[in-house]
Amino acid sequence: MSLLTLDALSLRYTPSGTAAVDGLSLSVEPGEVVALLGPSGCGKTTTLRLVAGFERPGAGTLTLDGRVLVGPGAFVPPEQRSVGMVFQDYALFPHLSVLENVTFGLSKLSRREAEDKARAMLTLFGLGEFASRMPHSLSGGQQQRVALSRALAPGPRVLLLDEPFSSLDSGLRASTRIEVRRVLKSLGATVVLVTHDQGEAMAFADRLAVMRAGKVEQVGTPESVYSAPRTAFVAYFLGGTNLLPGMGFGGGARTVLGNLPVMGQAKGKVLLSLRPESLRLVPDTDSVAVGGALRAEVLSREFQGPSAEYTVACGGMELVVRGAPELSLRPGDRARLEIVGKAGVLADSPD
Ligand code: ADP
Repeated sequence: MSLLTLDALSLRYTPSGTAAVDGLSLSVEPGEVVALLGPSGCGKTTTLRLVAGFERPGAGTLTLDGRVLVGPGAFVPPEQRSVGMVFQDYALFPHLSVLENVTFGLSKLSRREAEDKARAMLTLFGLGEFASRMPHSLSGGQQQRVALSRALAPGPRVLLLDEPFSSLDSGLRASTRIEVRRVLKSLGATVVLVTHDQGEAMAFADRLAVMRAGKVEQVGTPESVYSAPRTAFVAYFLGGTNLLPGMGFGGGARTVLGNLPVMGQAKGKVLLSLRPESLRLVPDTDSVAVGGALRAEVLSREFQGPSAEYTVACGGMELVVRGAPELSLRPGDRARLEIVGKAGVLADSPD
């Protein structure tokens, strides 16, 4: 059985305004890390706040470990929910030491027990020797791990993380993410995090819930959502894509680029998503024309470190192609375009 269930939750901040969360349903399994991912304003933080109990939904039910937290006639206040939360700015108490920050939520324990528990949690996060330091003397990454220790020390059933890595610089972000995931997994923590960063969500979460306009558009493992986006919105949000209409004939579809293999089945008029890495550019140095080859003209090139992204004109369309950065193609050059991957069949209308 799922540990946390959000069932048709809705919330409007103003009676006449649009719903910030609009009939949202989602289940989270014990020990799972789920990322709410989506553009700014799609309702991620509001969803997190509904789970924490800082907002009251207009409709819907919220269940944690078999207990109804919110539902018709029920509203359990935040402090009785067994939910831990780490805010984007960490919100540590500046006048308390690291140890005092972590023992703060352990008032039911004796002082000795609380300190032992807090020290154990700090040690787990590699902060054992910082217990007597004040928060301002720590780096951003260390402060974040203190905030995590504080939230986890009381043993919440669910941990909520609001953009947990966004305040860290990019070098520190990747290493902190790996370390934090390792500790959370070792504790078997159930986690819901909010992020607008798709790379972060894919690296950190076991499952993604891609949100749009207060609803969940698609849920699945990062691999499944990336490789088989259900809609153009999801495909664009997770790494960009090329959209092209086609006429399906089972395992493939006819398009302006010729017959493309598709994932699954395509029937009738369909809209296809072809990832930039499913296309390959080959410099067209041969003077001899290759029969049936797709001809493309490079319009622009954007260097991205491990790869380069090319925009090309081909078949009357502009397409984005990921290629090796050492490829010597520049705007104005001609190239051959090869299809090296399968297209995804989207649920969107092709018209
Ligand atoms: P996200 O976290 O995805 O950026 P939010 O949950 O913060 O989205 O916001 C969802 C929508 O609700 C947005 O349109 C936002 O402007 C609105 N909103 C958020 N908080 C409030 C508030 N306290 N009062 C009124 N509107 C709000």
